[in-house]
Amino acid sequence: MRSDLNVPMDGARVADDQRIVASLPTIRMLVDAGARVLVLSHLGRPKGEVDPGLSLAPVAERLGAVLGREVRFGPDPLGRGVAEPISGEVVLLENTRFELGETRNDTELARSWADLGDLFVNDAFGTAHRAHASTVGIASAMRSKGGDAVSGLLMARELRYLGDALREPDRPFVAILGGAKISGKIDVISALSSRVDRLLVGGAMANTFFRALGLDTGASLVEEDRIEMARELLEVVGDTLLLPTDCIVAESLEAGSRSRVVHRSQVEDADHIVDVGPETVTAFDEVIGRARTVVWNGPMGVFEVPDFSRGTEGVAHSVADACDGGALVVVGGGDSAAAAHLAGVSDRLSHISSGGGASLALLAGQELPGVESLSDGA
Ligand code: ADP
Ligand code: MG
Repeated sequence: MRSDLNVPMDGARVADDQRIVASLPTIRMLVDAGARVLVLSHLGRPKGEVDPGLSLAPVAERLGAVLGREVRFGPDPLGRGVAEPISGEVVLLENTRFELGETRNDTELARSWADLGDLFVNDAFGTAHRAHASTVGIASAMRSKGGDAVSGLLMARELRYLGDALREPDRPFVAILGGAKISGKIDVISALSSRVDRLLVGGAMANTFFRALGLDTGASLVEEDRIEMARELLEVVGDTLLLPTDCIVAESLEAGSRSRVVHRSQVEDADHIVDVGPETVTAFDEVIGRARTVVWNGPMGVFEVPDFSRGTEGVAHSVADACDGGALVVVGGGDSAAAAHLAGVSDRLSHISSGGGASLALLAGQELPGVESLSDGA
């Protein structure tokens, strides 16, 4: 089984076990069925070299704790010298990215992993947008030796919400995009803009659109090389796109820095736009309140700083209210998920995606290699 146990670490301690917890249903199902479960995962970016700081050993321990049964750790990524699991036992092998061939989707490496089992279950949605040996290569290697390669429960759930549910959405269909950069999300903006009824844009992403409108953004984060692209997008999408009308500007992005609310046409040279303003929060809330389907990716401001988190919190509450009222609400992106937690609304949403890049790729309508390679993946 391939899981995404790529959790944030604090030294040798698991700092946040959300991804471990998200992988439990599939592991439990296999264990309950009496399977002998061998789990593969990557952690961080060791670039094909053994990096003791990126060992999965502490993750095995935490996985055992949340699973409520011992998880044996196999210190070799290829399972050499590791005794086979017995029925109902779970073994986690060392970081797949300690192997150079992993990110190159090396055929030999994929085959040695496939040789360890009879069935391949891919539950690693977070890496589904990449073709690696432990996700894609292993699936075809498993099939060529007569075994099957299928999705795990988490993978299936992600595909149901981000793929199926958004293919024929109940309308109005509203997308909310924010975060630091347009560049990583261009494909998503263009794919969504032709399918949604309204596209609400906040965060630093909005700054680049402001510049495309000829507005001054002072010292704010702007992608100069994307202004032209933003201008073209504005022409194509027209009224579908709703930008903030007011913003919070501050002396810097640091906590404690002095801030004020201004109309978007009144940003001064020394100002940093750090959040959307109250008028925008209300306008966005009205649109979100009428939606039947909502996709949210990217915070509305520098939400890590409490003084600059009101816009993001506002959106979090608006989407949670919409969901309470029967709308389907899907949140993607690590920071947006964190913002939903901070606002205390996580369990009022239909689905919070466990994969940042993979969820963006799906929203952009791209095919995911890690999904295409599974026999039930299409
Ligand atoms: P996600 O992880 O949800 O996809 P991103 O990683 O794209 O979101 O963006 C999150 C980051 O964007 C946060 O660190 C936040 O501080 C930053 N950000 C949002 N608005 C601004 C802004 N106006 N200026 C600078 N940074 C911003
Ligand atoms: Mg992020």
